[in-house]
Amino acid sequence: MTRLHDIAAHIDGYDTESLSVAAAQAFIAQLVGRVGEVERVPLKSALGRVLASDIVSPIHVPAHDNSAMDGYALRAGDLDTDKPNHLRVAGKALAGQPFDGHVAAGMCVRIMTGAVMPPGLDTVVPQELVHLGDDGTVTLPAGVVRAGDNRRLAGEDLRCGEAALSSGRLLRPADLGLIASLGFADVPVVRPLRVAFFSTGSELRSVGQALDAGCLYDSNRYTLWGMLVRLGVEPIDMGIVRDDAASLEAALRQATECADAVITSGGVSVGEADHTRAVMANLGEVLFWKLAMRPGRPLAVGRIESRGHQAILFGLPGNPVAVMVTFYAFVRDALLAMSGASASALPMLRAATTTAMRKRPGRTEYQRGIVSRSPDGRWQVALTGSQGSGILRSMSLANGLIVLPHDQGHVEAGDDVDVLPFDGLV
Ligand code: AMP
Ligand code: MG
Repeated sequence: MTRLHDIAAHIDGYDTESLSVAAAQAFIAQLVGRVGEVERVPLKSALGRVLASDIVSPIHVPAHDNSAMDGYALRAGDLDTDKPNHLRVAGKALAGQPFDGHVAAGMCVRIMTGAVMPPGLDTVVPQELVHLGDDGTVTLPAGVVRAGDNRRLAGEDLRCGEAALSSGRLLRPADLGLIASLGFADVPVVRPLRVAFFSTGSELRSVGQALDAGCLYDSNRYTLWGMLVRLGVEPIDMGIVRDDAASLEAALRQATECADAVITSGGVSVGEADHTRAVMANLGEVLFWKLAMRPGRPLAVGRIESRGHQAILFGLPGNPVAVMVTFYAFVRDALLAMSGASASALPMLRAATTTAMRKRPGRTEYQRGIVSRSPDGRWQVALTGSQGSGILRSMSLANGLIVLPHDQGHVEAGDDVDVLPFDGLV
């Protein structure tokens, strides 16, 4: 297993006192690897899970050449191209009920959408383009079809033996449908990642408890729980842990023994009552970074061990907005990689900011924004008001994160900025 300082040696611009977001992401990508075993689950239970091996099509989809329209199937070679054609109807082909008879030259077959093309016929003329006579013949004006029109070819969606989906795919609704179209009732997926998390701080109280003087309610466990569930991992909520070395060590050990990854919030900045850093460092290889970002300056990352069990550790800052921003900037991709999911970049919007933003080059900043369409149809984004890293309402009001890159300076109203939208379609 690669030691942490060996990874650091390969990261451009590695500087623990001011680590760029890009360098921290590159480090973490090298630290983590897929951990989960494989299990088979029924197709419907596979939504949001990670495919553990390629799905290879055992059949052609569609299995036969078939009609894309309601109309008449014919042989294009039989048609006169310069005058109307009269064809006799030899029979009919319905979806699920093929026509097996012989179709002589100059004849056609009534055919419905999805029905198998009768042998030898290659073209379908839509019913709207023909005239059906009283004598049972159809008349086509000259030139209304070309050979192959309105015919779907066997295997045009997927050929037998072709990989329909690759290992590492995070399964979405269309994928479930695709797997079903191949006839598979269950699929191999990676077992869900187990992620234990707790909040540190003697000032924290849990919902339902009385709020003593100088205390506040623990919100980080709820945002973390929500973000973890949305990611499809199995969250293990370990509650609040007081700022004392024995409690912190016991909690970290218990978490390491039951989970693949451990996430804590609070206690990683240098503060008097924070024993978190020392305890973490005792349990394995842990790095304490000062990130060149806002919000979310301190971050602990490493590998800890207890009684032969290992876990990846993320020690997030305590401030509620910093927890969410550092989760999306670093933890999300790491957990997906550990779950076996192939990397895919999140889509970004370019939107004109309605607010000027003061920013100095040399750190990445994440502002909370509300994206909307301007009257001329372009994206615009407004700040959600006060952007302090403890102001969780700024996150709750937002529908996207404005990402101001490392080298960016001040932003004027009307400038285009990158926005990471919170919501996606599927
Ligand atoms: P720390 O990094 O532990 O110094 O925490 C930074 C700030 O975040 C302090 O004001 C904490 O009270 C606050 N904080 C820490 N943990 C939580 C939590 N779980 N829920 C809400 N606020 C928190
Ligand atoms: Mg604290």
